[in-house]
Formats: sequence, C-alpha cells, structure tokens
Amino acid sequence: KLLLASVSVVLIASKWNAPTFDPESLKGVKVVVTGASTGIGEQLAYHYARFGAQIVITARREHVLQQVAERCLSLGAQKALYIAADMASESDPERVVSFALDQLGGLDYLVLNHIGPSPFSMWDGDVDHIRWIMKVNFFSYVQMAWKGLPALEQSKGSLVVVSSLLGKMPSPFVAPYSSTKFALNGFFGSLQHELAMKKSNVSISICTLGLIDTESAMEKVKGKTDVPAYPATDAALNIIITGATRQPEGYYPWFTYLLSIVKDWFPSITNYSMRSSYKYEP
Ligand code: NDP
Repeated sequence: KLLLASVSVVLIASKWNAPTFDPESLKGVKVVVTGASTGIGEQLAYHYARFGAQIVITARREHVLQQVAERCLSLGAQKALYIAADMASESDPERVVSFALDQLGGLDYLVLNHIGPSPFSMWDGDVDHIRWIMKVNFFSYVQMAWKGLPALEQSKGSLVVVSSLLGKMPSPFVAPYSSTKFALNGFFGSLQHELAMKKSNVSISICTLGLIDTESAMEKVKGKTDVPAYPATDAALNIIITGATRQPEGYYPWFTYLLSIVKDWFPSITNYSMRSSYKYEP
C-alpha cells in the first residue's frame, strides 16, 4: 500500500508540473532529425512537418530520405531537405549540422535519434561491434551536439536526445546497445548540469522510451518476449512535446517513468521480472 501510495504521489506530481505544449510554437522552427528514413525518426519528421517546421532529415539511404522529405512537404513542412550521411564516419556528423546551418540559416531543435543495427542476442565477445556501435549511437551524438550548440545558444534552442529504458536498466540480449544508451544518459545528463550552471539558453531533453512498434524493433523481439509495444507515432509526438516544452526528461509510455524510479527499490524483484520477460532456453 505504501509503495502504491508513493507511486501515485510521484505520478500526480509529475503530471501537475508538466508545462503546456503550444503547437504554434513549432511553426517555422528550424529542425534537424537524425535517423529519419524510418521508424520513430520518420514519424518525428512527419509531426514536425504537420506543425509547419523547416526540417533537415538525415540517415544513410538517400532514396528513402527523398520520399520522406516529399511526404513532409505534402504534410505542411515549410522546408524539407535531406542529406545522406553515415554516423559511423568521422566527419559526417559535423557535415550534417553544417549543411543544416547553411540551408536553414540557424537551428532551433537538434533531435538526435538514429541508431545503428545491433543484434538481439547474448553477447558473443564481439568487441569490434561495440567499438562501431559506440561511434554510431554515442560519439556521433556528442559531435553533432558540440557542432550545433552555438546555433542553439543563439536561438534559445533545444537539444533532444532519444534514449531508452535500457539506458537506465540493464537487460539481457542488448549489451552493446544498452552500453550506448547508458553512455548517452551519462554524457547528456552531465551536460544538462553544466549548461544550467553556465546559465545557457539551451535546453537538453533526454527521452526514455519503452518498447516501440518500429519494424526493426519488432523484428528483433519477435517470439522472444510478450512485452507490449507502443505506437511509433505516439512516441514521436511525446519526444517533440518534451523538447518543445523544454523538459529535461521525457518518458513514453508512462510506466517507463515508474520503472526507472522503482527499479532500485527492490533489485531482486526487478532483476527477476526483467529475466522472466524473455523466452530463453539455454
Ligand atoms: P530504426 O532502426 O527504425 O531506425 C534507425 C534509423 O537510424 C534509420 O533511419 C536508419 O536509417 C538510421 N541509421 C542506421 N544506421 C545509421 C548510420 N550508420 N548512420 C546514420 N543513420 C543510421 O530505429 P527506431 O525508430 O526503432 O529507434 C529510434 C530511436 O528510438 C533510437 O534512438 C532507439 O534507441 C530509440 N528507442 C527505440 C525503441 C524501440 O523499441 N523501437 C525502444 C527504446 C528506444 P538508414 O538505414 O537509412 O541509415
């Protein structure tokens, strides 16, 4: 009863404090969305387009980006430009930000969302994969953030980082992916403090997501878990609202907030539930 009461207080307090979102505030804003050829990134692009933003989208597959950009224009984007880039490359992350600054003449939102493919299996000792995935899912975020910060400072803009519950709770089968999300939470959590201490104009929002029904995620967990998956379009809207209202953290679906709070209260129960949520025969 005490646990339920504490949880209810935490949830009510968080809702009470939530700032109001004004869709008009996104009209004409200059936005970069990474990993926008598919999944949550694609949905992010469509929502920003409906709000009338000016968008630069990026991912590796140029022909897919072109189609997403065309759809963005038809949905109401003031501008929809695309640039193909590989976030494992040393220079592409900065090249993307430079392109956006040149084409849009500034930046209001830098939404870092892309991830490289990673297996859903027990770790097999592949250290090279971890080196590579850290480049794609973590180092490129740091590079893009550093390159974009001066423009965001000028526009009183926002940096939005798409993370995961697996960046707060370790889980089996995703050691390389989970490492990159823990790294993001650590780095951008630290940067949030530093920007606040410097009285910077820039807000950083770190978004924690649970399982979302994108094609790549569904393909990975198929037959391995019964954990429910939530719609990518709702996840994307939640991310956009978190950034637009300058909240330091966002959670979707709602219970990821609860889990990230209570996970350390009863570690043996948390660990047991985590392991039993997967089907595995040794
Ligand atoms: P997807 O796998 O559907 O999309 C990944 C995107 O990243 C694609 O646009 C892909 O495009 C791009 N990408 C892949 N590799 C590279 C690369 N080397 N360089 C540049 N772009 C690349 O991911 P989701 O939509 O499922 O996830 C989006 C975000 O949400 C991620 O940060 C993820 O961690 C987070 N999240 C997702 C969850 C889920 O269940 N789906 C759960 C929790 C968090 P292309 O192939 O064209 O390069």
